[in-house]
This record gives sequence, C-alpha cells and structure tokens, in this order.
Amino acid sequence: MKRNGTSSSTPLNGQAMNGVSLNGNPMNGKHMNGNGLNGHHHDELIDEIGDEHGAASIDTPMRPDAFDLDDDTKIDLIEEHFREIMSILGLDLTDDSLKGSPRRVAKMYVKEIFRGLDPANKPAPTLFENKFRYNEMLVEKDILVQTYCEHHFVPIIGKAHVAYISSGKVIGLSKLNRIVEYYSKRPQVQERLTVQIADELKKVLETEDVAVIIDAKHLCVSTRGVHDVNSSTITAAYGGKFDEEATRQELLRYIGTSNVTI
Ligand SMILES: [Zn+2]
Repeated sequence: MKRNGTSSSTPLNGQAMNGVSLNGNPMNGKHMNGNGLNGHHHDELIDEIGDEHGAASIDTPMRPDAFDLDDDTKIDLIEEHFREIMSILGLDLTDDSLKGSPRRVAKMYVKEIFRGLDPANKPAPTLFENKFRYNEMLVEKDILVQTYCEHHFVPIIGKAHVAYISSGKVIGLSKLNRIVEYYSKRPQVQERLTVQIADELKKVLETEDVAVIIDAKHLCVSTRGVHDVNSSTITAAYGGKFDEEATRQELLRYIGTSNVTI
C-alpha cells in the first residue's frame, strides 16, 4: 500500500486515512445504532454505566441474527473494522509489527475469547449415575475464570468455586470447568456469569441444590478508572439447600472463605 507520496516516516502519522472506508460498513449500519447512546453528551452516562458494571439481563443480550454470519465471515469483518480503529488512532498499519494485528484480534475474538457466545460451542454434559449414593456436597474449588468485561472489553480474572448436592446424577469433574469456561468466553458482567453457570448446572444436574461463587479482579478497575489494583469482586448464586445457613457455612468452610460474609 502506497502512502500517497508523502514523505512522512514516523510510524504514528504515516498511515493514510484514505483507503480505509469509514462508511463502507458491510452491515450497512443497520445494527450499529441500536442503543441511541451516541454523541459526546452521552459520554458521561456511558462511563457511569460502565464503572457501575450493572447488567440489564441474565441472558447475554444477543440479536436474533447473531449467527447468520459464519465464523470466517465474522473474522474478515472484524479484521476490517479493527484495522479501521487502529488507523483512526493514527497507527501505521504498514508497520511490520502492527500489520497482522487486525487479523490476530479478529481471530482471537471469534475463535478464543468470545467463542462462548455461540451455543454450538457449549460443552455437552457427561452425566453419570450416582452409584455410590454419595449425597453430600461436592465442591470443585479454584476453577480458573478468565472472562471479559462487557463494558470495557478488558479481562476479568479470578476463580470460581462450584458446588452441588447430587439428586442422583453426577457430572464429570472436568465438565464443571468446561461450563465455567464456556460462559466466561463472552463479554460479561460478573453477576451474570455467576448466575448463568448456576442455571446451567441446575438444568444439567436436575437439582436446585447448586452454588457458584466467583472471586475476580477486573482489569478495568485496576488498569484504568480508579486504578485499584488490590480489590476483587465476589459474587454468589445459591439455590435449594444452599439457601440454608448450615449448608452455606459448610461450603464456605471448604473453600476457605468462612470469614467472608456473602
Ligand atoms: Zn469494566
């Protein structure tokens, strides 16, 4: 790609803006204006919503046509748009280090960090009969959580503790990790992630006796905004017997946070 004959050579200003279409949106703009929160005077409100990290619904908000495009098409389109974002920032996309970034980011979004948006990637539950008649609490603790704040698109990293009391079905232990991972690979708010994991476990295990606790650090809190590197956020969803104080205390003892009031 030629640079219109300019002699500019610094990586930050050498990228010509022409050739990057700002209105050539392949989705024809029809899905890009849904919330009406455009314009500078809404910036403050948008910042406030983001920093409060409120979620509007338990289901991840998706459009009905979310999967009309296949993954390869999505990667191509995101690559194009991310190139545009980098270009608007003034970065030189002909630079050897930068030129592959739009495609890398696009593949990472679709195939890795947001792959949990697609129900086709949902782990199939492997259930076993509870042959040992083990009907005490089972706790899988310290499951790695790596998800992404839907308000800032930066990571939320922490751990999940998942517990259930068998109703006759037992799930493979690794499936607990897989379920946590699946719902994590989405733009998320921590409260919704916690409830989505709990709801899935209730459905799969056919019991209300499920608990999910997540303790995580938000990079949007530590690396920007208030720059609080020490705080973490704890969320919990308790169902069935976990609503009872004794059962809940037993769980908290197992995971070693019995001194925390949740
Ligand atoms: Zn955030």
